[in-house]
Amino acid sequence: MPEKKKIITIDGPSGVGKSTVSRKVAAATGFTYLDTGAMYRAFGLYLSRQKTDLNDALALRATLESLQLELIPAADERSDVRVLVNGEDVSEAIRTPEMAMIASRVSANPLVREILTKIQKRYGHDGKIVAEGRDTGTVVFPNAAHKFFLDAHPEERARRRVRQLGENGVEADFKQILAMTLERDDNDRNRAVAPLRQAEDALLIDTTGIDAEEVAKRIMRVVLNEAI
Ligand code: C5P
Repeated sequence: MPEKKKIITIDGPSGVGKSTVSRKVAAATGFTYLDTGAMYRAFGLYLSRQKTDLNDALALRATLESLQLELIPAADERSDVRVLVNGEDVSEAIRTPEMAMIASRVSANPLVREILTKIQKRYGHDGKIVAEGRDTGTVVFPNAAHKFFLDAHPEERARRRVRQLGENGVEADFKQILAMTLERDDNDRNRAVAPLRQAEDALLIDTTGIDAEEVAKRIMRVVLNEAI
């Protein structure tokens, strides 16, 4: 059996609190936080700006080859990772509900997934990573030492999203966000390549009714107790 890597994966549908929890776990372990969702959002932004036809394999490859993605670690536990596309800071532009939907559509494309998975594996090469996303425990880091899958009721997830967007100065309507959350879940769970699912060796945590601090504490208890 391949040796397990010092990597913590935190997967789950949107709005379960993965980002906040991952940042806390990264701060507690001293590991680097890898926000894979931000990468799909950045690709989605670039492809939509370039008006690239996802079904045109040649055009898609050419556009992706012209894309330089850079992640700058967050300044502190409360901030998001900063994302640069060809030198332009798109950190704010990618964190809107519309960009989430575009990212979800783009992320079903096998070439997009192939390229991003390769980049993500490179980030995790030396371990000491907290990877957050949809397929980090199943596809990107199958040998991660610690895997978690967070879930929560859709209404609670939509409420959290509305709150989170509000904190970032984006006003959002609950019903609309709930519909978008359900559509995104459906896309992510049912796509052919790397669909959202719990890895067999991941621990499921239902975050309904518990805050991020408590979820992060539970994860840290498991991580510290699992001798590897
Ligand atoms: O996590 P976040 O909401 O930023 O992710 C945006 C979208 O990117 C998700 O809805 C999903 O379609 C896609 N994604 C993915 N695989 C990942 C991370 C995100 O397909 N590992």
